Amino acid sequence: MAKAKQVHSFKADVDAYFDRAAELTTYPKGLLEQIRTCNLVLHIAFPLPSKRGYEVIHAWRAEHSHHKMPVKGGIRYSPLVNEDEVIALASLMTYKCAIVDVPFGGAKGGVKIDPRRYTEGELQRITRRFTTELAKKKFLDPAVDVPAPDVGTGAREMGWIYDTYNTLNPGMMDVEGVVTGKPISIGGIHGRTEATGQGVVFAAREACNVREDMRARGMTKGLPGKRVVVQGLGNVGYHAAKLFHEADAKVIAIAEYEGAIFNKDGLDPVKVAEHRKETGSILDYPEAEPYEGPPLEIDCDILVPAAIESVIHKENAANIRAKVVIEAANGPVTREADEILREKNVLVVPDIYANAGGVTVSYFEWLKNLSHVRFGRMTQKHEEAMLHTLVESIERKTGKYFTPEERKMIMRGADELTLVISGLDQTMMESYAAIRETMLATEGVPDLRTAAFILAIDKIARNYLELGIFP
Ligand code: NAD
Repeated sequence: MAKAKQVHSFKADVDAYFDRAAELTTYPKGLLEQIRTCNLVLHIAFPLPSKRGYEVIHAWRAEHSHHKMPVKGGIRYSPLVNEDEVIALASLMTYKCAIVDVPFGGAKGGVKIDPRRYTEGELQRITRRFTTELAKKKFLDPAVDVPAPDVGTGAREMGWIYDTYNTLNPGMMDVEGVVTGKPISIGGIHGRTEATGQGVVFAAREACNVREDMRARGMTKGLPGKRVVVQGLGNVGYHAAKLFHEADAKVIAIAEYEGAIFNKDGLDPVKVAEHRKETGSILDYPEAEPYEGPPLEIDCDILVPAAIESVIHKENAANIRAKVVIEAANGPVTREADEILREKNVLVVPDIYANAGGVTVSYFEWLKNLSHVRFGRMTQKHEEAMLHTLVESIERKTGKYFTPEERKMIMRGADELTLVISGLDQTMMESYAAIRETMLATEGVPDLRTAAFILAIDKIARNYLELGIFP
């Protein structure tokens, strides 16, 4: 009998990372098992009547950890969705939330469809039906389970989820908090769309600001001038590429489904995305040349896989020439590849930290929805009046005057977007420091990923112990 091909399990990789970190802690086995185990999984199959006939749509929602409520995590639309993947992604959410101090358990949803094959009307019907099924089973509620966008979904789908749930729950006070990543007009928050990409760039900045880590890889400190390769020009990849460019790093290559483009002097990601929108492809972008070889293997300083999981695996890991890999996607490096990269002295900044910007700003959105007020609404004018008084008194006392531009800059009170970005910045800065400190302070920790898992385990374990659930 022929030997069955072994399928790579994303969940097995995440569990193995967890186990490696857990071994370096002193928590009881039962507690660690509780933290690692997925608490609840729902598999739904429902029909989609269309012009093509009936089709059965398969969808999942996994709530990995109820140690804090609500649970939180994106909903993905992709033909590759399966239960193993949804559980793996939900568990990453649990650890991610713990690392960045977002008080949620982890969850994830997935619908096994290729969204490009459906009309907008069909996608709306699928989304509304999935929402109804989730709500019926109590897998959707502002206090229980709060989805967000992920691969193949965005503000439009979150708007449909909100609207369906709102219809099913007339008069519910905190209904806007049922989903994040919504359009602004229905309770979304400024900065959420770009939050994950923004967080990725903050993560890269933190990594590049550690002089000894850069020196150990033959680089100087700081993000400006670093050569960056980005895979995936979707929500995360586009905003990360754009913000790397704005931070004076050089985005030398961008890879998408259709292939990759290269320019050693740097690309403008906004122009590339505009070109793709107009022509349907990045390939004939005039200010670059098509790159024929495997784009992940381009010689660069920072590689940013921002598309899907398992793109760096045991067959190509040895060929990676980047010195730093920032895991913008979830699980882009398989466990075997992770070992190979470590042996090559590549600094891997793990997904459970690097792409936590999305859930951090989702948390801000949820807080905004529960408080029913825009951030900055009650403080912005007051801050501006105080800064105005301060500027005038400095001018009076020194006899020197600010230029109108300087005055405008100094006297700007913080609006919602400013507060969101500064809150995210601080979160990413503090979390990187905590992960690195854990790595240096704990014996036997080989890398940032293990340190990040230890940090997450510590925070979740403390939660259980303080509740008195484990002796
Ligand atoms: P998206 O669907 O907006 O973008 C993904 C992009 O990757 C698409 O443009 C797609 O064409 C491209 N792509 C897919 N396979 C590819 C391949 N083999 N080579 C090159 N390009 C490929 O999805 P997204 O929301 O940007 O999510 C990307 C990753 O980031 C996922 O792993 C997701 O789980 C993770 N993530 C997303 C968020 C978020 O806020 N959206 C938050 C945290 C993590």
